[in-house]
Amino acid sequence: MELKYKTELLGTSDEDIERAAELIRQGEVVGMPTETVYGLAADAFDEKAAEKIFAAKGRPSDNPLIVHISELTMISEIAAELPQLAVTCAKRFWPGPLTMILPKTPKIPSSVSGGLDTVGVRMPSHPAARALINASGVPLAAPSANLSGSPSPTTAEHVMSDMNGRIPAIIDGGECEAGVESTVICFEQDAIKILRPGRITAQMLMEVTPDIRIDKGVLNKVDSSEPVASPGMKYKHYSPKAEVFLIDGTSEQFAKYIAEQDVKNAMCIVFDSSDMGGLKIPFISIGSTAVEQAHKLFSALRDADKNGAKVVFARCPKTDGVGLAVYNRLIRAAAFRVIKL
Ligand code: AMP
Ligand code: MG
Repeated sequence: MELKYKTELLGTSDEDIERAAELIRQGEVVGMPTETVYGLAADAFDEKAAEKIFAAKGRPSDNPLIVHISELTMISEIAAELPQLAVTCAKRFWPGPLTMILPKTPKIPSSVSGGLDTVGVRMPSHPAARALINASGVPLAAPSANLSGSPSPTTAEHVMSDMNGRIPAIIDGGECEAGVESTVICFEQDAIKILRPGRITAQMLMEVTPDIRIDKGVLNKVDSSEPVASPGMKYKHYSPKAEVFLIDGTSEQFAKYIAEQDVKNAMCIVFDSSDMGGLKIPFISIGSTAVEQAHKLFSALRDADKNGAKVVFARCPKTDGVGLAVYNRLIRAAAFRVIKL
């Protein structure tokens, strides 16, 4: 792609939000902070603007975008039907990191929905995202603001590193709180199916219905020729340049395995420095709780590249609660290479 923009770094003042909104109204793409990860935002009703998002990311056109709203009333122009369960979820979890898949209205261009007749809708809680939607006067279509395939950005600096020259502006709203993308769900009568796990967990969704299903693409590799409920899951995803291996074992087994390796430019992603057993290999700790791990994971994958790592050995996270989201991202970053000890 031709790098035609001198990418402006904006803050979150009223003037800066208005500057970003003006760009959105002109059909441009803006880097936007949210509570999950940074997004690449454009007018969700403007087909050409949405196409610019795909060009900036180098994203396959069948991988749909999520439409972001700031008020529940905006949903009537986006979703053609709103099941009772969706209304309950909206009341319970919005604003927040939950995306609902609903039948789309004709107003949503097929470039936004990746050619599907459904659309993903979410109401973010981040004040700068909400201010930008309000100032733009339209819902904003936004996928994560990384180059397609790379780890999602959790700081404005990450967005600048991927998008410099590709978009006119980025709003710096600080570090993202969640660090992993939204939980994506669809409805199957009285059941909710999780297509992509996130900070809103299966246990939390059980507060609205007892029947929570988990799509098989969450934990398993999806063949690129297979039809898939959440198209994003079938692509190579979240990968740093380094080759990542997921090491499934206890802290002691991990340290012993690492001590036996003889690879140059290796790096470890661990929960805690004690996982390293005193070994002198560069490592990044991402914390002992799943919430901390989610917050730091993408940043750690980017740091591995910055440090010139060729191989990354990562401890395998637990798969309960928010851990399911961490595992789902890490196993894709590792191209499903899991070493069971
Ligand atoms: P991103 O925020 O970059 O991870 O991209 C949005 C992701 O949301 C896509 O990759 C899909 O997995 C999911 N998504 C968005 N719209 C739909 C839809 N209509 N049906 C199923 N999944 C969707
Ligand atoms: Mg993404």
